Amino acid sequence: MDKTYCRYHPAQPATWHCRPCERDFGNCCIPLSAEEPDATPTCPLCRGKLAFLGAANSAQPFWDRIPQFFRYALQPAPLAFAALLSLASLFMPSWKLLWLALFSVATKYLQSVIESASLGGRDAPTLGSALDSEGYSLFWRLLVIFFIAFGLIWLVQDFDSEALFWAVTLSVQLVIPACIIRLALDKTLGAALNPEDVGTVIKAMGWRYLILWAFLFILWQSPDAVVYMLSSGLPRVVLMPIAALLFGYFSVVMCAMMGYAVFQYQGALGYAVAEEGGLPSYPLDDYLRRRALAEAEVRVKEGQTGPALEVLTQALERAPNDLKLNERFHQLLFGLNARERCLRHLAHYLPLAARLNPAQAATALLNARQLQADYLPEDAQVCERVAQALIERHKTREGLSLLRNLHGRFPDYPHIPRAYLLAARGFAEGLGQLEPAQKLLGYIRARYPQSPLLGEVGNLEAIIARLAARA
Ligand SMILES: [Zn+2]
Ligand SMILES: [Zn+2]
Repeated sequence: MDKTYCRYHPAQPATWHCRPCERDFGNCCIPLSAEEPDATPTCPLCRGKLAFLGAANSAQPFWDRIPQFFRYALQPAPLAFAALLSLASLFMPSWKLLWLALFSVATKYLQSVIESASLGGRDAPTLGSALDSEGYSLFWRLLVIFFIAFGLIWLVQDFDSEALFWAVTLSVQLVIPACIIRLALDKTLGAALNPEDVGTVIKAMGWRYLILWAFLFILWQSPDAVVYMLSSGLPRVVLMPIAALLFGYFSVVMCAMMGYAVFQYQGALGYAVAEEGGLPSYPLDDYLRRRALAEAEVRVKEGQTGPALEVLTQALERAPNDLKLNERFHQLLFGLNARERCLRHLAHYLPLAARLNPAQAATALLNARQLQADYLPEDAQVCERVAQALIERHKTREGLSLLRNLHGRFPDYPHIPRAYLLAARGFAEGLGQLEPAQKLLGYIRARYPQSPLLGEVGNLEAIIARLAARA
C-alpha cells in the first residue's frame, strides 16, 4: 500500500482524512486540544468530523527498527519469561501435563507480545498477563496450525516428488508467520486458517512480507546455531537451560517484530491506532492559535482567501498581540493587495514586530513602502528599531529614510543621539557619504554635550577623518 501525505505539506505523513472533501491532512494541519484529547477533530474546510488514519503513514518501517526489537526483549518481563523457561528446563519433572501447561502459558505470553506491539506499545506486557485465566486456548489453536503444517509436509513426502516436497515445505513456512499474526489479531482458528484472511496480511505488506519472513527465519535459527557452537565440550545440563533461555529471548524478539509489522501496515489491515505519544496536543490558547494558523493556510492553498482572512481576524480578536497570527494576516493582506486594510493593520503590526522581531518588521516596512511610497511609522522607537534592521540588511537608504528629521518629528524622543549615530554609520559605511555623516555627528556634539555616546561619536569621527584623508 502506498503511503499518503498531507495534501498541503507533501513531506508530512497523513493522519486524518475527510471523505466529503477527499482531502488528507497531517498532524501539521490538525492540531489537537489537550483539554479534549479524545474529541474527534473537524475538517478545516467543511467542519465535518475527520476519519483517523492512525500511524499507517507515519510508522517507521520495521526493518529500520531491528535493534529496538532486540532491546524490547531485554525488558524485565521478557527476560523473566526467558529465565522461567530456562529454569523449567533444568528443574521441572518430565510430566507431560506440566510441560503442556508451561507451553500454553508461554504461547499466551508471546501472543500478548504480538498484540501489544501491534497496537504500537513499546513496553512488553507483564508476565502476569500470561497467567490470568483467559485465552489459554490460544496454545491449542497454535498447536492445530503447526499440526496442519507438519501434516501437509508429511503428506507430500509420499508423493515421491522432490519439487513438490520443497514447494509445499517452502510455502508452508512462508505462510506460518501470517497465520500466527492473524491468530494474534482475531484469536480464532477460523481466521488463522482462512486463506483470504491470511492473504490480507501478506497482501498488506506486499513484497516486504518477505523481508519480515527472512528476519524471522534467521531469528528462528539463531538459538539452534548458538547451541550448536557451544555443544562441543559443554554438558547437557548446562546446554539445555542456555538453549531454553535463548529460545525464550528470540521468541519475544520475533513476536515483537511481527506485532510491529502489523502496526506498520495497520492501514492496509483495516484498523487505525496512533503511536504512543504520536499525536501532540496543546493547551487551549496555543491550540486555538495553531488551529487558526493551519486553517488559514489550508484555505489560502485552496484559493479561499476571504474565509482565510475571516479565520485570522477571529483569532486576532482573541490574541491581538500574537506575532505569528499578525504576520500571517499581514502577508495575506499584502498578497491580496488590500491596500487600505493592510496599512491599517500595519499601524498595529509594525510596533509589535519591531519589539519582538525587528527583521520581520523590516520586511513589513518594505511591503508598506510598496503600498505607499512615503510610509512612515508613527513612533520614534519603531522608526529606530526598523531602521537598524534595514541597515543591517544593507537596505541603507530605506533605513535612513526612517531616521530623517527624527528630532523634528519627535522632539521628545530621548534617544535622538543613538538614532543619529546609527544614521551617521549608515551614511559613512553603507553609502560612503562622509559629509552628511559628519553633519549628524556634529549635531549630536552640539545638542547633546552630556550624551554617554560621545565616545562612540569620537571613534566614528576618527574613522571618517581617515577615510576623508584617503579620498
Ligand atoms: Zn499539513
Ligand atoms: Zn472536509
